[in-house]
Amino acid sequence: MSSVPTDSAGSATGRLLSLRLGVVLALAILALVIIVDQLLGRSLADRDRDLIGARLENYQRIAGHGELDKLFGVLDEEQRGGLLDAWIIAVANDRRYGASVWQQASLREIETGAWQSLAATDGSRWLVTRRPLGAGMDMLIGLDATPRQSQRNEYRWAIAALVLPLWLLAVLLMNQVSRRTLRPIRDLSDTVESIRSSRDLSARVQIRDPASELGRLAAQVNGMLITIGDLVTGMRESLDHVAHDLRTPLARLRLNLEQQLIATDPALTPAQARALGDSIEECSRIEAILRALLEIAEAEYGLTRLQYSRVDAARLVHEVAELYQFVAEEAGVSLHTAAKEGIELEADENRLRQALANLVDNAVKYTPRGGEVRLEAESRNGELLLSVADTGVGIDPSDRPHIYERLFRGDRSRGSSGLGLGLSLVRAVVEAHGGRITETSAPEQGSRFEIRLPQRPTSP
Ligand code: ADP
Repeated sequence: MSSVPTDSAGSATGRLLSLRLGVVLALAILALVIIVDQLLGRSLADRDRDLIGARLENYQRIAGHGELDKLFGVLDEEQRGGLLDAWIIAVANDRRYGASVWQQASLREIETGAWQSLAATDGSRWLVTRRPLGAGMDMLIGLDATPRQSQRNEYRWAIAALVLPLWLLAVLLMNQVSRRTLRPIRDLSDTVESIRSSRDLSARVQIRDPASELGRLAAQVNGMLITIGDLVTGMRESLDHVAHDLRTPLARLRLNLEQQLIATDPALTPAQARALGDSIEECSRIEAILRALLEIAEAEYGLTRLQYSRVDAARLVHEVAELYQFVAEEAGVSLHTAAKEGIELEADENRLRQALANLVDNAVKYTPRGGEVRLEAESRNGELLLSVADTGVGIDPSDRPHIYERLFRGDRSRGSSGLGLGLSLVRAVVEAHGGRITETSAPEQGSRFEIRLPQRPTSP
């Protein structure tokens, strides 16, 4: 039986949820940052255009009256005064002013009226346009856009420095919130898992907030568990009462039949004698079922008084093997044992022998001729590990959840004798000792049952 670590599963869901929300939030922030960046870039470019436009207008005004020489004079003066260091200006393509970091060829290609962003020979970026100056001449005018670009980069870093910690904080908060929100679901799943693994229907889901939807769900699950518990107890009790009440009349019936058989034997026809004999046998069989049912009920309700004593595990294993040696030989199955000497535990020897014998009985019964059964005992982590492995027919995967139920018999076992109570008794005895039983099985390959018992009883 494997148990799911529900707590980590619960927090994994919380982590997954906050991870998804974190990714969505990151994408939303990224989209917002891109939009802000684009708007910023556009507004900075607009400022450059305005600056170029204002200067151009001034030059057009000067040149507009056909006073080209005056324009050259102004430009010469501005050049000398260092006012054109961040500019490129060309009049009629041959008179050039300003920085000398641009390529003549690429400037020639700019059409009149168009705006263009150009890379200069030193890697700087320039915003350039060509406009009519009047008198059939053009002016090419451009401004170094690199300062604006670095300004834009600074904004980008500032946004990143602000947004990244905010995003991290939001993800952490979301993680906290999702963990809190999922806690009632974790409680629910833990309770269901504990009922599944321990079969203890008395477990209840913790109700944190009775008014919330999840609180109401938890209360409903608890109500359902109470109803199921009552039904199961009712069913068991009636089965046990029936078993108990049937025992005495059945014993009387068998006694009567036996007396009848003995008293009237010579007068009976063979058919009558056979019928009486069969009836006595059936009575014994029903008595065995009732006895087993009551034993299981007692062990499950904790009514069984275990007679604790020091038990030698190797001796127990050899005794059970000896008991079944003949049956195994008859069935053509070889029975092997391997038990470490010196392993001792506190246990009720008779009941433990009965449990182990039931497992060996099954192993021999469900193993075809030529097969093998191994009975082993070893000490592992302070526990006694008793195992019974066979190379038999195996258990159908669909039967495995039911094999410990009372009166359950697998389809494969229909042809063999049995009451469907052996494993229920084994489990009841093992659990009464504070131990557990597990099994692995593959159809047509065999089964392996393992009993783990604390070497010192937890509740003597
Ligand atoms: P039964 O009297 O039928 O053996 P048990 O309670 O001992 O009843 O076992 C329940 C069912 O589990 C069996 O009917 C059988 O289908 C299956 N089973 C138990 N042990 C084995 C085994 N060693 N190999 C195959 N099937 C097994």
